[in-house]
Amino acid sequence: MARMVILGGAESGVGAAVLAKVKGYDVFLSDNGTIKDDYLKTLKEWDIPFEQGGHTESLVLNADEVVKSPGIPSSAPLVRKLTEQGTHIISEIEFAARYDSAKKVCITGSNGKTTTTSIIYYLLQNAGLNVGLGGNIGKSYAMQVATEKHDYYVLEISSFQLDNCYDFRPDIAVITNITPDHLDRYDHNLENYVRSKFRITQNLRPEDCFIFDSDDAITIEHLSKIVLQAQMLPFTQKGEVQQGAFLRDDRIVVRYQQSESEIYLRELALGGKHNIYNSMAAALAAKAAGIDNKIIRESLKSFQPVEHRLEPVLSVGGVLYINDSKATNVDAAWYALECQTKKVVWIVGGTDKGNDYSVLNDLVKEKVKAIVCLGVDNAKIHSAFEGIVGSDRICDTLSAEAAVKAAAGFASQGDVVLLSPCCASFDLFRNYEDRGEQFKEAVRRL
Ligand code: ADP
Repeated sequence: MARMVILGGAESGVGAAVLAKVKGYDVFLSDNGTIKDDYLKTLKEWDIPFEQGGHTESLVLNADEVVKSPGIPSSAPLVRKLTEQGTHIISEIEFAARYDSAKKVCITGSNGKTTTTSIIYYLLQNAGLNVGLGGNIGKSYAMQVATEKHDYYVLEISSFQLDNCYDFRPDIAVITNITPDHLDRYDHNLENYVRSKFRITQNLRPEDCFIFDSDDAITIEHLSKIVLQAQMLPFTQKGEVQQGAFLRDDRIVVRYQQSESEIYLRELALGGKHNIYNSMAAALAAKAAGIDNKIIRESLKSFQPVEHRLEPVLSVGGVLYINDSKATNVDAAWYALECQTKKVVWIVGGTDKGNDYSVLNDLVKEKVKAIVCLGVDNAKIHSAFEGIVGSDRICDTLSAEAAVKAAAGFASQGDVVLLSPCCASFDLFRNYEDRGEQFKEAVRRL
């Protein structure tokens, strides 16, 4: 019996462990930290041996193959040892795909993954397909392959998951865009990060589709260096394409094979230039999956925003509060500011990932009337924007409640208070969801 060791006991690791068990492996799961109660329960239910609070080398290094959770870096000492002794290390996605013959629509990119994945899932569901949603969202792909049966999967895949994919092949692959992010995991080398994202294309065949943003300089530059067999379906807001999606006047045009269809921008459920890109990518994926134009149009009209992504919370005293807590990098905040049509009181800050704020200068000049910093160390934000908004219109806070109160103090009727932090949340919050929840709660208490 082959021995499969799973490193990491959260969503993807526990899913992989269950799948390994179902497929008859000698399974062992090892987690350096504490495994959450729900996952412990699942491991016990499936009678899977595990350890937590540290790795026992003798129980890990004897693996025939290892599934590594995406949160564990390849530089971790145990992972190094496994690599040195030549043990094959794969991701949960790679493992699950070995046992799955469903058609797969797979989405990666720096920003817009969850939104685009959710729209595509919604489209495929509305078309009546038997479809599972997985990857970085909801229930793990491996758990679904182990316990359910779907004809299609829509999978959001991070670069960390792609790093340990080798034979994995989507039928439809999407890269939403590529901007510098997570470079700490890629030796601070953008090229490594770009190559990791492009692993989603590495096994594409001529019958598969590759959907990409042709306005994205980094994507285009990388495409000029590689050869892909797949059908190329670019989306753009600058000019026209033979196959793909583009803008004509006030409409999105989707051209796929011999057909052309149109969607009015004013009918899109999600606002903002970035969501035009996301909607284009989703419409192309749906076309490539054979879905009817009418269903695509109707779905793009009725889709509901995903929580923590430009999510309107409440209007209080004529001021609209928007929760964009998931904007953890500069590019995401750029799009959030870009689509605001009213004066903005901007709540920003957190754990800086090496941000260059200068790309936001023009938007801040044009739209931002005051800045509320929400973070432990706000020095970079002060030096970037104090000269633009004025030193009396920027302040520091250490909790969502204080930030909302300070923002309410700056805002007047007709303004928007936008939480779009540009930064990770770990200095003051458990994660971006916690930050968004606390923000919404504070708004409700105003
Ligand atoms: P991801 O899953 O890649 O982090 P999300 O869909 O969760 O992407 O969105 C993350 C943040 O990026 C949100 O603040 C959202 O408003 C913004 N965003 C969404 N789509 C795009 C896009 N295509 N380009 C830039 N920013 C985007």
